[in-house]
Amino acid sequence: MNDELAALLRPELADLSSYVPVDAPGIDVHLDANEAPPHTSPAIRDAVRRAIERVALERYPDARATRLRAQIAARTGAKPEDLLIGTGSDEVIALLATTLARPRPERPQAVVLTPVPTFVMYRVTARAHGLMPVEVPLDQEWDLDVAMMTRAIAMMRPNVVYIASPNNPTGNAMSRERLARILEAASETFVVIDEAYVDYASGSLRNWRDTYKNLGILRTVSKIGLAALRVGWLEADGALVREIDKARQPFNVSATSLEAVATVLEDAWDEVGAHVASVVRERTRVAAAIGEMAGFEVTPSDANFVWVKTPRPAGDVVEALKARGVLVRSFHSLGGRLANQLRITIGTPQENSRLLEALSSCGA
Ligand code: PMP
Repeated sequence: MNDELAALLRPELADLSSYVPVDAPGIDVHLDANEAPPHTSPAIRDAVRRAIERVALERYPDARATRLRAQIAARTGAKPEDLLIGTGSDEVIALLATTLARPRPERPQAVVLTPVPTFVMYRVTARAHGLMPVEVPLDQEWDLDVAMMTRAIAMMRPNVVYIASPNNPTGNAMSRERLARILEAASETFVVIDEAYVDYASGSLRNWRDTYKNLGILRTVSKIGLAALRVGWLEADGALVREIDKARQPFNVSATSLEAVATVLEDAWDEVGAHVASVVRERTRVAAAIGEMAGFEVTPSDANFVWVKTPRPAGDVVEALKARGVLVRSFHSLGGRLANQLRITIGTPQENSRLLEALSSCGA
């Protein structure tokens, strides 16, 4: 690229890098991306097939996603007019960065606040849109540090606070009492509770919207076995949703994905629930087995993965597992207390057994 073009790029891009999926040869057990294992019930694939057969391929998708919003409303209790549908929740995060972007009067940039470690796209998307990410460490138990969070909110006056609960990569749901205190402290901020993993936890906080008008709930179908379809949504104050919606590409979600997810919600939701329950059972088995291994500690998980403290550097354990055909995720390059932590997605029972065997035989 010549210097003239390089000079046109946002300076923030210089310290960002593209998402590169790990593609290691010889890996046949992929437990690194928090995907669900393949559905065992044919009802879900049948629902997707029926939906796709109905799609008019020559037409643009329904720009208002009317049927999908109605189905989400029916399943969750949300009002259709409070819902904004994205191509994955990633797109919703980008739309929030585009729209909730007006700097506070005294500041050059709008601020996005997150506890860390957490889902990296909050920070990356903020940077890519010229917003300023501010990060506050989680406490020793990977729960919210209310004192630090409320101080950061008062000092930085963020436009948006993102709190993933259950959190990625730590797997735990945040304490409700702490969440409530942060919502109270952030009454001038849009607080997003990202419930990407809530299907594996003990319940959504979407009812809190009655109490906290500044609360948005982010959801996705990616973690319950439908990641290929790329559908996520925000539930928030209808008037705010209408404003954010002005920046949405009118045909952002493909007709096949809109129809497929709507049909799964309508016709195969019980089967999705049964699938989730089977992953939760496997989570219990995997967490107990790893917990028995000398030197390992497992953080209680409310998600479809476990967060594991390793007796030796996580990078070494990752390599040893890779040599045995098993891919898991580590964040050791970030150092500090992440140097000995692994995130392991719950897979099929066979994959989980392979993981446990590999973990116990690699002398970690
Ligand atoms: N939020 C969290 C906490 C996640 O872990 C992920 C996926 N890794 C997402 C959002 C993005 O999900 P989607 O596939 O809906 O874009």
